[in-house]
Amino acid sequence: MRKGLILLPLLALTAACGAVPQAQAPQHQAAARPAAVTMATRPENRACLANLGASRASFTPLPDQYYGAGCSAVNAVRIAALRSDSASLALTNLGPVTCPLAESFAGWARFGVDRAAQQILGSALVRIETMGSYNCRNVAGSERRSAHATANAIDVSGFVLADGRRITISGDWHSESPRVRQFLTTIQGSACKRFGTVLGPAYNAAHRDHLHLELSGSAFCR
Ligand SMILES: [Zn+2]
Repeated sequence: MRKGLILLPLLALTAACGAVPQAQAPQHQAAARPAAVTMATRPENRACLANLGASRASFTPLPDQYYGAGCSAVNAVRIAALRSDSASLALTNLGPVTCPLAESFAGWARFGVDRAAQQILGSALVRIETMGSYNCRNVAGSERRSAHATANAIDVSGFVLADGRRITISGDWHSESPRVRQFLTTIQGSACKRFGTVLGPAYNAAHRDHLHLELSGSAFCR
């Protein structure tokens, strides 16, 4: 299933280049799948895509996009779903993310969030809600480009559990339930081990309703 997902955009690219007539695409697909992957994928991204596949994520590699003004989505993927130990994890509102970020996110969702949900709240994770990823903009209140401008950051706003509970950063960060607070503290802590920069409600008002997860930086966790 994953190979099928990968192949579709590659064939679309090939067709767009005019290198192979559309009518021959099925034959080309069968004969040249490895070559097509090699040609369209940067070497440094190949291992990442393989690791993301091994995590059993459902995703589509995207063609590199340069939007100008310091904004791009390079080595990016679109994730349809992730996997926990036992289930598919749905995602809402997530756009393109770079493959290394997707890989860390997949690991955090499974080993950080789902297991914390089961251990602390007694129910498995089924969905992660986000406020998006790629966004051509500066860091709020600065002249510096945000990691979102290169698809290198994800804003996570909430979690839905198998028992139907929905836990949000905006509504539950100061929950009256010690377990819910413990869950949110725990998943932020595990994010800090996988991402270079993690910003939440304790950082500033701009982050009152989400956790900003970014690979760059070094243990900047607020
Ligand atoms: Zn953010």
